[in-house]
Amino acid sequence: MSTFECYDYIVIGAGIQGSFTSYQLVKRKRKTLLLEQFTLPHTRGSSHGQTRIIRKAYEEDFYTQMMGESYELWAEMEREAGVKLYRRTGLLVMGPENSRRYRDFKSTLEKNKISMVVLTSDNFNQHIPNVILADGDGALVDTTAGVLYADRALKVAQEQFQKLGGVIKDQEKVTDIKPGLTVTVSTSEGVYQAKGLVITAGPWTSKLLANIDLHLPLEVVRINVCYWKEKIPESYHVKKRFPCFILTEGEEAKEDIYGLPSNEYPDLMKICYHDGSETDPDQRDKKTEGADIDILRCYIARSFPGLIPEPAVIESCLYTKTPDRHFVLDRHPAYGNIVIGAGFSGHGFKFGPVIGKLLCELILGEVPSYDLAPFQISRFQTNIKSSL
Ligand SMILES: Cc1cc2nc3c(=O)[nH]c(=O)nc-3n(C[C@H](O)[C@H](O)[C@H](O)COP(=O)(O)OP(=O)(O)OC[C@H]3O[C@@H](n4cnc5c(N)ncnc54)[C@H](O)[C@@H]3O)c2cc1C
Repeated sequence: MSTFECYDYIVIGAGIQGSFTSYQLVKRKRKTLLLEQFTLPHTRGSSHGQTRIIRKAYEEDFYTQMMGESYELWAEMEREAGVKLYRRTGLLVMGPENSRRYRDFKSTLEKNKISMVVLTSDNFNQHIPNVILADGDGALVDTTAGVLYADRALKVAQEQFQKLGGVIKDQEKVTDIKPGLTVTVSTSEGVYQAKGLVITAGPWTSKLLANIDLHLPLEVVRINVCYWKEKIPESYHVKKRFPCFILTEGEEAKEDIYGLPSNEYPDLMKICYHDGSETDPDQRDKKTEGADIDILRCYIARSFPGLIPEPAVIESCLYTKTPDRHFVLDRHPAYGNIVIGAGFSGHGFKFGPVIGKLLCELILGEVPSYDLAPFQISRFQTNIKSSL
């Protein structure tokens, strides 16, 4: 008779969402296994790299409201681990003053009473040197925003999980899932059973869900993570409190352009385009020429006179996008003991602690702390080709 290792819960994928979900489960005294296909730490998914933007500025109230708790949980994790994960810099939001998106950012901050400074074309450069505000663009600063130290945050979440007795098995690719009252998960190394399973497999989610007959409209895109050299060192440095920024629309771009102050590499500022080319996560290294880099070159030449408009370093990362760019946080439509957290659409890192809490609540059958209607699988009903 074969014996399987048994756990209360299994989580697939040790990115930021799976790591925080596992941490939440073990904090609630559930025997938890976190499975990861690669050797940790790795740079093949969506959670690697040194920095991410954290902000409350959103067009939708529900994200701004979730971020309130997320900031508290990040601070709790900093205290628990004794590690600094967040640096406040503010976030500059720019965009055509009368556009719907710019107005939505502004009104969400106002409605939710988030600390904000609105700049005018007259005082803009007193506050934000070395940036040219386009004619007709509005500018505001979400003063709560800043930089999250991403690699460090991921490591800390996994360490805290292990300290509380959680088990991580890396280099174990999940190859099969058998649903049932007890879920059976097979990997390249073994077979495990649990009463519930959480799938947080990032760009590989569709491949895994195919095992359990669920097809979500998730698109994986490769993002060129571009760093641009400062003409005068430290002109845009985090130490000088240069803010993160988002340009919501521009002459050059259909999608957002965003940036973070120079920090991780000397004299290099990270500025990226919020889109890329569709890819298979296992084929991402095939070179795809990006129109995104031309868009960034033009924008930087026009608006950032202190940067050389040629990328000095290009790294890559993956987004897993849903059609509406909202997350998927839900139970499998047929198997209530399988929960899915996916489709973070390039903006999920900052929510890590709160997503972990929500996915934990879902798998434990508790009432979720937030209304999860925007994140339900049923919104894609017409797109689901389920053979169930
Ligand atoms: C360039 C870039 C910039 C970003 N900037 C921001 C930002 O400023 N602010 C922000 O909030 N968010 C940002 N994001 C988004 C954020 O980083 C992601 O939403 C988040 O990291 C997604 O985490 P995840 O855990 O869902 O996925 P991942 O980190 O990809 O984790 C999924 C894990 O599952 C594992 N896995 C998959 N299949 C299997 C299998 N079969 N068996 C075992 N393991 C498996 C993978 O190896 C991987 O480790 C950015 C993303 C990118 C790419």
